Amino acid sequence: MTSGWIGGLAIRTGPGPPTADYLCTHCWYHQRLTGRERIEHGARDLPIAHRAVCPALHPQKGTP
Ligand SMILES: [Zn+2]
Repeated sequence: MTSGWIGGLAIRTGPGPPTADYLCTHCWYHQRLTGRERIEHGARDLPIAHRAVCPALHPQKGTP
């Protein structure tokens, strides 16, 4: 199922409802969208939206 998938955005179409998986290779955050309409409108924003808040790319400071 994950053969060849080393992270990033992976879109699977059928059988059944299409799904889009996004796996961050920095912090291994995973998010899944289901449904063609959500994927068409939201999948390309997943990496962008996550990079803005990725804890690996934006280390929290001030926590001892
Ligand atoms: Zn991340």
